[in-house]
Amino acid sequence: MKVITNTDEFPDYLKDASNFRGNCDALLMPVHEEEIQEAVEFAGREGLPLTIAGNGTGLTGGRVPQGGAVLSLEKIPHRILFDEEKKCVTVSAGLPLIRLLEAVDERGLFFPPDPTEKLCACGGIVATNASGAKSFSYGAVRNFVESLDLILADGSSFTVKRGEFIASGNTFGTLTFLREGNLTFSPLPMPEVKNASGYFLKSGMDLIDLFIGSEGTLALTRNITFRLLPKPAGILSCLANFVTEEGALDFIQELRLLSGEQKPLAIEYFDQGALRLLKADYHFTDDRAAAAVWFEFETAEEIPEPLLDILTALFAGCGGKGEIMMASSPGERRQLELMRHAAAYKVNEYIASRGVRKLGTDTAVPAAAFRDFYFESRNLVKKSGLDYVIYGHFGNSHIHLNMLPENQTQFEAGKEIYAELCKNAILRGGTVSAEHGIGKIKKDYLRMMYGEAGIGAMKEVKRVFDPGFRLGRGNLFDPD
Ligand SMILES: Cc1cc2nc3c(=O)[nH]c(=O)nc-3n(C[C@H](O)[C@H](O)[C@H](O)COP(=O)(O)OP(=O)(O)OC[C@H]3O[C@@H](n4cnc5c(N)ncnc54)[C@H](O)[C@@H]3O)c2cc1C
Repeated sequence: MKVITNTDEFPDYLKDASNFRGNCDALLMPVHEEEIQEAVEFAGREGLPLTIAGNGTGLTGGRVPQGGAVLSLEKIPHRILFDEEKKCVTVSAGLPLIRLLEAVDERGLFFPPDPTEKLCACGGIVATNASGAKSFSYGAVRNFVESLDLILADGSSFTVKRGEFIASGNTFGTLTFLREGNLTFSPLPMPEVKNASGYFLKSGMDLIDLFIGSEGTLALTRNITFRLLPKPAGILSCLANFVTEEGALDFIQELRLLSGEQKPLAIEYFDQGALRLLKADYHFTDDRAAAAVWFEFETAEEIPEPLLDILTALFAGCGGKGEIMMASSPGERRQLELMRHAAAYKVNEYIASRGVRKLGTDTAVPAAAFRDFYFESRNLVKKSGLDYVIYGHFGNSHIHLNMLPENQTQFEAGKEIYAELCKNAILRGGTVSAEHGIGKIKKDYLRMMYGEAGIGAMKEVKRVFDPGFRLGRGNLFDPD
């Protein structure tokens, strides 16, 4: 194992894509899989807080240390083991998602979670319960995790398989890998929306769900088995522009109601600010449209006639501008996909160039509350005079409203608005984070969402797995 103590040698491990910065005493770099456990034990012996690093694409400071040691899986040889009969793949946590997607595709299989950023590690997407555009149809990473090989803060290791440990009410009876032998927890009032805020704590839950989305605070994930699906026969990507934001939201509402073979795989939204950002690189975007909707279907042929008729009627009825752009060839589809992803990169570039932290919401609310929430949020930011860009996974009523502060003063003003937006999402029965997680940046909003009792419930669980509060210190909540 390599141990580096000169922080000048690993500046990248002291930040993530949110621009949040930290510090630590040492970087631990195990070189073989067996050394991961040794590294965790070493940190335990030294009494060091231990932050687990994925690939640093996180947007909440989750992997940014605040003292202690950082454990990197970068040097561990990657593992990708397919079980084609069971349609599963077992991977090492450090494997970049892009490598998994390529390998799965080569075998004619499909891993549906598609976060925009593909350079993240498989351990990172499990730790944050990441999701993406296709989560509208398939759900988040959680839905595809079959088994986790975990290491606790004391260095002990165990495997949790889906379906193996199911709580009886709020108690897991026999957990031999815990000193206590069992775990009793208080369930959280988790919102009925896409959610990546805090621990998954629900009566009758599967133990594996506790670790998914726990942001490196309960255990280190060493290996993961993901469930896979057969590859779709073909995918049709579409882009539709609208004269008004209301029209685009109406169209989204109608798309959500389609079912069976006509159910979209993904429904994404861009406001005019986002279209303006994209225009320079993607000439086919219409920056004079008030908003655009990108959506996808699984289709074996070009586009089935009945679906085309439905889309044409909906588009006209909702004030569509021009014609729906339909891309069925891989090349055309790729262009639309790149455009969709570019919005997030452009915002992050802007933020980095101004030296401020990201101020982008990750809120989701129930579908029935979404339209009001959208206009309320947009109006609040518009009134402040701050520049902003809106895009998001609107099929899931999940909005990324990115404020674009020019400087630190504007950032501070934006932070006040951000808190207001989170409060409004909670009041409407939603979540403060639907996919990026809480990390160190959004702790106040997690507290706002679940209150002291909820934070207390999470800390009770944390104490059982990591009594010294050493793993992922500062993520989700502060230590006692
Ligand atoms: C341009 C851009 C677009 C993005 N789009 C999306 C999107 O569409 N959807 C989405 O969900 N996210 C998105 N993200 C956020 C980010 O990519 C995800 O949160 C991703 O899951 C982080 O993975 P990572 O490997 O980079 O983790 P890191 O940033 O390194 O760490 C994230 C957290 O995971 C923990 N962790 C990492 N590995 C392990 C492990 N092996 N065991 C235990 N804990 C671990 C860390 O301690 C930390 O708390 C985007 C980010 C960027 C920059």
